Amino acid sequence: MESGTIQSEIIIGIDLGTTNSEVAIISGGRPEVVREDGDAIVPSCVGLDEAGNVVVGRRARNQAVLAPERTVLSIKRRMGSGERVSMGPEEYTPQEISAFIIKALRARAVRALGHEVRRAVITVPAYFTDAQRQATREAGEIAGLEVVRIVNEPTAAALSYESGGEGSRRILVYDLGGGTFDVSVVAIEDGVVEVLASTGDNRLGGDDFDAVIAERLVTYVETELGIEDARENPLLQARLRRAAEQAKIELSTRPWIRVEEDHVATVDGEPKHLSCELSRADFERDIDALLSRTMQSVTTALDDAGVRPGQLDRILLVGGSTRIPCIARLLAERLGQEPHGEVDPDLCVALGAAVQAGIEMGEDMRSVLVDITPYTFGTSAVGELHGLPYAHQYIPLIRRNTKLPATRTEAFFTVTEHQETVEIKVYQGEDPDALQNVEIGSFRFSGLNRERDAYDQGLLFTYDLDLDGLLKVHAVERATGREIHGVVENAMGRSTEEALAASKARLSGLWGEEDAEGELDEAAGAPGDAGDAREESAGGLEASAEIRDTLERAARALDTAPAEDQEELVDLIEDLHNALREGRAGDADAVRQNLDEILFYLE
Ligand code: AMP
Repeated sequence: MESGTIQSEIIIGIDLGTTNSEVAIISGGRPEVVREDGDAIVPSCVGLDEAGNVVVGRRARNQAVLAPERTVLSIKRRMGSGERVSMGPEEYTPQEISAFIIKALRARAVRALGHEVRRAVITVPAYFTDAQRQATREAGEIAGLEVVRIVNEPTAAALSYESGGEGSRRILVYDLGGGTFDVSVVAIEDGVVEVLASTGDNRLGGDDFDAVIAERLVTYVETELGIEDARENPLLQARLRRAAEQAKIELSTRPWIRVEEDHVATVDGEPKHLSCELSRADFERDIDALLSRTMQSVTTALDDAGVRPGQLDRILLVGGSTRIPCIARLLAERLGQEPHGEVDPDLCVALGAAVQAGIEMGEDMRSVLVDITPYTFGTSAVGELHGLPYAHQYIPLIRRNTKLPATRTEAFFTVTEHQETVEIKVYQGEDPDALQNVEIGSFRFSGLNRERDAYDQGLLFTYDLDLDGLLKVHAVERATGREIHGVVENAMGRSTEEALAASKARLSGLWGEEDAEGELDEAAGAPGDAGDAREESAGGLEASAEIRDTLERAARALDTAPAEDQEELVDLIEDLHNALREGRAGDADAVRQNLDEILFYLE
């Protein structure tokens, strides 16, 4: 093949964001974001440096505070408006400014691929008007690219999780970025993706959360450090804003953090340093009203699409701000299922744009590959269950669908002031009652609360789960820094054995005998025998040879089936058994067929 032919066929995927942009390419049938020095993100900032050269990305963002007159931020908000913005001595259209960003992204792709790139797929918000879409297309063309498709961002996000495929799916995409919030309901019908409804708030995002924390820091600086003019000092404001964003990001994995900034001002000749503790609980309370607004939009989008929460096949988290843990919690409470955030929420729109590019290029596309935990890992604590006090409330630390490796820390308190020991139980499972989950480890932490303020400061538990299923547990008493470490090996494999044991226990209950293994074979192979006959004598049906055969195969498959299939097998065996006992011949046959279908894949 001539290299010129390949080159002209390459299409890149571009996520042109309000705060950040990324470019992705196809490699080996899979989308891949282009990184430079490990960094995938190009801030959507354009500026002129002191010598009058155009700079894009981090360099432009870094000069924004010092040289706002020659730096442009958030140009996406003006796309399609016909306004002009000034950058240094000249004025530019929004398309021209966006074109600088696209050029920088294109150059990245060219460096990664080692050859020229002429075509691109670019994403836009679902609510963009024709004028805004047209302006985006023009920006691409000014940057020297043919824009083969403009794709809606929620569509791209959905494509990053499932690149088309057969069947019909309903997906809710919750996208909370740096400066905008969108929620969309997307339908996939035999590979065709359509946005059914989209709503949101294009003035709500991570910047607002930074402002909430920055306000706490400014108040601290004024009241504790006596710096009265903090609000009038733009450089100090910018510094506190940056510290606030960093603090917010750390609070996504830690319940408390300490913000340390040296020499924030001089008061009476004395240098003043900032050292202020922030808690996730306070932060979540501060942003509660903002998040409630996003949940109302979720309801609106579902209503507009005519889709009930129970009809959703998936919920996807998009945008960096969805890493704030309470967002997944709020969505799970509202919609009754855990959202997915395993495809990097900053990158999934760019990855989806590349999937679309691959489809345009006629490639056989596969979805993004990520390693996730299929189970939630947590501990138990005194708390509530169904609104009542309960001694074994399940407290998840690493939720299912979290990308691995993962580290999460939570704060806990001893129940009484003089309590010297805690038992740290490690569970795997999804039930709010810890005792209904699988206990996979237990560690004892003794000698607590020997210091006066130790009780008030509590303990921090950290779970650290790696790709091999090694779960490291770490607990530290905050007041003293004393710590213990524990390891649960094969944390993910364990469940399969446990699930198998639980499944067999359920089946043994069904046939009313003690030895699940022996009695299963017996029940499946000879339903007329004593164990079965007892239950079916009250007007039940005798199992046909076909049903007996299916039950036998199901019993054998249970030993080797993956955990999620075991559950389903057990449910179906139970259903079949009930249908026989209650004399529902049609149902029994339908369940048998269902079982046969699953067995077809398992055998
Ligand atoms: P995006 O516009 O999607 O690139 O999202 C950028 C926003 O995500 C910024 O406000 C970031 O501060 C925020 N962000 C990134 N990582 C985290 C995190 N771990 N926790 C909370 N916010 C984050």
